[in-house]
Amino acid sequence: MVDIHLYFSQELLGWFHIHKRTLPWRQNRDPYRVWVSEIMLQQTRVDTVIPYYERFMERFPSVTALAEAPEPEVLKCWEGLGYYSRARNLQAGAREVVDKYNGVIPDDADAVAGLKGIGPYTRGAVMSIAFNRPEPAVDGNVMRVLSRYFCLEDDIAKPRTRVQLEHLARSLIPEGAAGDFNQALMELGALVCTPKSPGCLTCPVMVHCQGRLAGKETVLPIKTKAKPPREERRLVALIEGNGAHAGKVLVRQRPETGLLAQMWELPHLLEDGGNQDGQTPKTGRGRKKKDTVMEETSAGSGLASAPDSNQSAQMEQLGRSLAAETRLLVRPRHRWMEAEHVFSHIIWKMDVFLSDFGFVLKENEEQKSQYEAVLRGELTAAEQRASYWRSETAPARVLSESPVSAVNEIAVSSNEPEQQGHEIPLPEGYRWISPEDMRELAFPNVFLRILRNYWELN
Ligand code: SF4
Repeated sequence: MVDIHLYFSQELLGWFHIHKRTLPWRQNRDPYRVWVSEIMLQQTRVDTVIPYYERFMERFPSVTALAEAPEPEVLKCWEGLGYYSRARNLQAGAREVVDKYNGVIPDDADAVAGLKGIGPYTRGAVMSIAFNRPEPAVDGNVMRVLSRYFCLEDDIAKPRTRVQLEHLARSLIPEGAAGDFNQALMELGALVCTPKSPGCLTCPVMVHCQGRLAGKETVLPIKTKAKPPREERRLVALIEGNGAHAGKVLVRQRPETGLLAQMWELPHLLEDGGNQDGQTPKTGRGRKKKDTVMEETSAGSGLASAPDSNQSAQMEQLGRSLAAETRLLVRPRHRWMEAEHVFSHIIWKMDVFLSDFGFVLKENEEQKSQYEAVLRGELTAAEQRASYWRSETAPARVLSESPVSAVNEIAVSSNEPEQQGHEIPLPEGYRWISPEDMRELAFPNVFLRILRNYWELN
């Protein structure tokens, strides 16, 4: 009688030695290289990871180099891979290695497990691949392969099942071949026993695969569905510079902690009203495609069409809320693009508005009542002012032509420094950028796409 456990381990190992892919992190068994690759590969495809990995290793070739690098540089190098907390945790872990272990990743499973950002899977991968220790490394690929081969019908979304599979995987590791065996399991899951269409006919363990023999290879593994991410509607201001900042766009840096900490973005906010659940507003326009540039008139300026009532309400909210939060007065011109950003727990559905820069309200007693008027939604004069500013009409003329109002008074006094060739101080964390500045600053993917789109068209 065949021992299907032994058969599995031997056949799989033999197959791996012949079919394993040549990948940059397989050049040697340096634990740092293994660690970086395993963190990058979480929730990201191998093909996507390769260029990021090579760039990252060139820029941060050792634990010490990573530990000593400024965080913005690490984020910039990670830009586009998403899940930025992985990059932050990786660097925090590297700093722990430098502080506690003199820059040498220890050959000790408990010590490795204690490093920031290292869970059971990464611990197993580093210990087995780098140090050849018989530790299991069970990720989604491995759970799928084991569930199918052993025809296991437990729900792999449950922590208890994962623990059982870790025990099983540990028992399968051939002596002295932990690194190769774990990689072989992952490789089989990635190349042959794939999620939707397992390639059983070319599979090295096909003969004794219990799932296939039971006709359940496409049913297994059993996995209860996670709660779908919550949709959130966001209004984004793509604020175009003028005067000394012509050709530039206003961006801001996110806070030091929390979602996408310290990354750069366009100013945006949650839309008021009943749209946060992601339902289509009653405007008649479609909301079908991710990242859609709306139709425009010449050179992307002016309104593509008369704004519908929802668009007008959005523009009004965007202007008012930005003024309330930041004292930044802008005039949204029209909805220019739709975009989408998917996190594990949330989806941002974004409407991007091309906007004119007006001015920054000052925080002083003199302007307090006017500021409050702006917050009440009395933006008309300010918007008008912003519009004139964009058309580079002389400020004196603006005053005489536009309605004399409290808000306009603020506009004039606030813009005095700019008129004399000085900078208007921006709210903290805000700055003007040109396309070249994007080489230095790290943006989440969605803002990269929006800005690249914008600069391509302008
Ligand atoms: S025989 Fe099919 S189902 Fe079984 S392990 Fe191989 S690819 Fe997966």
